[in-house]
Amino acid sequence: MKTILKLLILLIMSFMLSCGISKKHTIDDSRKAWAWMSGKLSHTDEVWDYYFRNASKAGIDAILLECHPGVPDTTYLRDDFVGAQAIETVKRALPYARKYNIELHAWMWTENRGELNLRKAHPEWYMVNRDGKSVVENKLYGREHYRFLCPYHPEVTEYLKDRASELAEIDGLAGVHLDFIRYPDVILPSKLQASRGVVQDKEYAEWDHCYCDLCRSLFKEKTGIDPIEMEDPSQNKAWKQFRYDGIVHVASEVCKAIKEKGKIASVAVFPHPDTARTLVRQDWPRFRNIDYIFPMVYHKFYTDEDSWITEATRAGLEELKANNNPAKECTGLFVPHIPVDSISYMIDLAIKGGSTGICFFSLEGIKSAEDKGIPYWEKLGRAINEFKKK
Ligand SMILES: [Zn+2]
Repeated sequence: MKTILKLLILLIMSFMLSCGISKKHTIDDSRKAWAWMSGKLSHTDEVWDYYFRNASKAGIDAILLECHPGVPDTTYLRDDFVGAQAIETVKRALPYARKYNIELHAWMWTENRGELNLRKAHPEWYMVNRDGKSVVENKLYGREHYRFLCPYHPEVTEYLKDRASELAEIDGLAGVHLDFIRYPDVILPSKLQASRGVVQDKEYAEWDHCYCDLCRSLFKEKTGIDPIEMEDPSQNKAWKQFRYDGIVHVASEVCKAIKEKGKIASVAVFPHPDTARTLVRQDWPRFRNIDYIFPMVYHKFYTDEDSWITEATRAGLEELKANNNPAKECTGLFVPHIPVDSISYMIDLAIKGGSTGICFFSLEGIKSAEDKGIPYWEKLGRAINEFKKK
């Protein structure tokens, strides 16, 4: 009987390995090192191998692979809206993830969907600003990809669930990671305003969304007020809450769809819950069905103080707890803000704030440093090694 049992266990284990499901794909408090990477179909085998080989050597356990570029290549757009380009990108990366024993997560853009077929077929699904202009026509901040869907259209949630599910169905993929699960920046991070040529000392109509017909009527039904008629909508708590709730709903539903496929659900969010709510109406401590939450603590976009990494991480953790949210918080650091000799110091600042793991944006940033003669991979490897021992 025992031999049969052993054989059965062996069979199950080999089946799991052949599917790419290893023991590593678990959700726990282990000190995991993650990194974001941009996946491009133009990558040669050498490029894929370069990133996965070096990441593995440096001790990176999991890669969040961007597979949905802001405006997907038109040759991959299909009438049924299946994200063929994203699926193909993930499939190209998977053999390298297996080869180097790296957990692979598909990083998809969520509210911000620039696919031309969707814009053409459903312009009414997109957000509208307080001047009445839709993001379909209005290129926000001069960015072609800044095309945000309105979270209150039920069809939007279904569309995003479909896109996440078709990725989650890929064999060997560990999880799906949501980015841009928010409103467009009503206010940009303070240190980015000058470079984008804007002054945002308060909420201005141009960057304030969503005043689409549906949102206006739903809010009016609820409160008796048409938000577009408010003198200063930034002062109306209910109107803020309405928009927070819209994103909470979409995030929670899309993550539920990912988990229903047996995959890990994670999200990238703005650092510090207060900042996230104020700048992009993202009340992420209330997101549900999330396994890992990655606040992008790219601190020098907000402050000159490194200690803010600790402060922002801690604030996130406290709010997660206050909301009985079991998601693991994992601080994201921006490589150009992390001098090569300060990697351990910056990781320690995140740990001090209570971060479970650490994530780096991005592998391309590390390659850029290497191209300038900075031995980033080697120093990163040492810092990650120390981090895992602590
Ligand atoms: Zn709307």
